[in-house]
Amino acid sequence: RDGVLYDVCRPCGIMLLLNPSSGRGQAMSLFSTHIQRMLTEAAVPHTLLITDHQNHARELVRNADLSQWNALIILSGDGLLFEVVNGLMEREDWEEAIQIPLGILPGGSGNALAASIHHYTGAAAVWGEDLLVSCGFMLCKGLVSRLDLVSVHLASGNRVFSFLSVAWGFVADVDIESEKYRHVGAVRFMVGTLVRLASLRIYQGRLAFLPASDDKELSAPSPPSSPLLSSFTFCSPVSCHTAADQPLVRQNQNPLQNGSPVQNSSSNAVVPARADPNEPTKHGPVDSLLVPLSEPVPQNWTVVERQDFVLVLAMYQSHLAEDLLTAPEAKAEEGCIHLFYVLEGISRAALLRLFLAMEKGGHLAYECPHLQYRKVQAFRLEPRTPQGVITVDGEQVEYGPVQAQIHKGLARLVTG
Ligand code: ADP
Ligand code: MG
Repeated sequence: RDGVLYDVCRPCGIMLLLNPSSGRGQAMSLFSTHIQRMLTEAAVPHTLLITDHQNHARELVRNADLSQWNALIILSGDGLLFEVVNGLMEREDWEEAIQIPLGILPGGSGNALAASIHHYTGAAAVWGEDLLVSCGFMLCKGLVSRLDLVSVHLASGNRVFSFLSVAWGFVADVDIESEKYRHVGAVRFMVGTLVRLASLRIYQGRLAFLPASDDKELSAPSPPSSPLLSSFTFCSPVSCHTAADQPLVRQNQNPLQNGSPVQNSSSNAVVPARADPNEPTKHGPVDSLLVPLSEPVPQNWTVVERQDFVLVLAMYQSHLAEDLLTAPEAKAEEGCIHLFYVLEGISRAALLRLFLAMEKGGHLAYECPHLQYRKVQAFRLEPRTPQGVITVDGEQVEYGPVQAQIHKGLARLVTG
């Protein structure tokens, strides 16, 4: 526990940022039906601010006088909180600014953090409006915990801060492709999963990581005997080696990494590709575990030998979506990244089975040899497939090499 929200009376109470276009476009009616009365009955002073464009919340938070507010709460999906976190980290006074308690009221189609916070209370799983009401109660109670943030370096040298996930391959494609089914709400991920399963793809790239102190390498289990795992499930042994054996990045292997300038997709500014994570050009903490993307990973990192993936997913909360308990052990403040990757060779049936089992967090019990799970402090991913999608907290970022490291308890979050 890291304090309570309402111990200090601030002039404006809580800032409630609402994205009217999130989810099925019903955030405003969710507020008036469920949240407004709760806040009034609990005498929680609040100011509602409705965003009218992407990055509006980011701009508001970057320039706000934070001494006026008890907390910054969003009513939307995870994407709006991503804006808020990054708006805070872009401030000159980021170190103090990121201490303001953050909160989430699920009104989007991707409500992974809300589902995670609810899960941490130990209560039985709920969805949709019940999850919203649960988070509304937490906000009225006002207990605050620490929240891990992950610093993510993109190919252009830009850095973003993430509270949830980095995804590449199957999961990232589903997240972005399923935008077109947003009118069905959270079910869009299941629809997207089925569509993408029908045209399952392999993604080439290299993955390396720095294991956490309590990481246990999953021993490659014996071939699965379940009849559901179809006969073209190859059970090739999974091997890793340390970075000392072979550098992850060979010079000039990728045009983004040979020191030539690359185009910064968000601002169209040309920035050098050799940004040194130990000399942050912007604000935020030093990433002491990372070396520049143009250099090989440090010798104490583990390099995954296989380079053909179906997905790579780094998570630091328990849920990937309202109904996907992907990292059952995760906590809000833990100081480690749960790194999952699925190797080429898995059958469609086996992959579907993993996603179905994930609803209750049962996917790891299958000991599927293609699914690997490691606890790490940092990782680097270098896609070799020329085009693709990488998401951070469900938001699409520039495609190319990424690396990231965890910062334990850097932010604060309203929890149960
Ligand atoms: P959902 O879970 O439904 O995707 P998000 O909160 O993730 O909801 O928001 C989706 C996207 O909408 C994010 O990229 C966010 O930055 C953006 N956004 C925020 N406010 C607005 C707005 N007023 N109009 C359009 N897009 C917005
Ligand atoms: Mg979203």
